[in-house]
Amino acid sequence: ARPVVAIVGRPNVGKSTIFNRVIGDRLAIVEDKPGVTRDRIYGAGEWNGRAFSIIDTGGIEIDGEDQILRLVRAQAELAIEEADVIIFMVDAKAGLTHADDEVAQMLFRSRKPVVVAVNKVDNMNRMDDVYEFYSLGFGTPVAISGSHGTGIGDLLDAVVEKL
Ligand code: GDP
Ligand code: MG
Repeated sequence: ARPVVAIVGRPNVGKSTIFNRVIGDRLAIVEDKPGVTRDRIYGAGEWNGRAFSIIDTGGIEIDGEDQILRLVRAQAELAIEEADVIIFMVDAKAGLTHADDEVAQMLFRSRKPVVVAVNKVDNMNRMDDVYEFYSLGFGTPVAISGSHGTGIGDLLDAVVEKL
């Protein structure tokens, strides 16, 4: 079977935007399971000749800090179960949040390979927003912009290296 890459992170950080850029015009498979947190979308990706499956987690809209925490915890558990490499997505505009720290701890304990993707770096001259995410403890964060499509090659380089 193909290796599996999962994207986890808080709602609104840009997971689906990046997922769509990675799968391009390949069709995604939506798996609707009962229970909000089990919903996910599978797509096929390829980079430098390496084929993989990619999972976009947390499709539903939710609100409130408690719900967000519950959702991202469940996503992280799912990713830890299913993925060979995890893309942990954070938001440069929002900065580091409590939910990010919680997910980081879960991922860290799992010992799965993790690549931190700092999305919404729409101006690559503004790398200052990226540095605080070093503190998550997964090495060099990769700056990306889903809006502009920048940095996605660097992100996939880092992912494929860990497959
Ligand atoms: P998800 O909830 O994590 O799947 O996030 P989405 O992909 O649905 O994106 C949430 C919002 O962020 C949408 O309004 C996107 O257009 C916006 N967004 C995604 N990527 C970027 C980016 O790189 N820069 C900016 N400024 N906005 C972005
Ligand atoms: Mg989404």
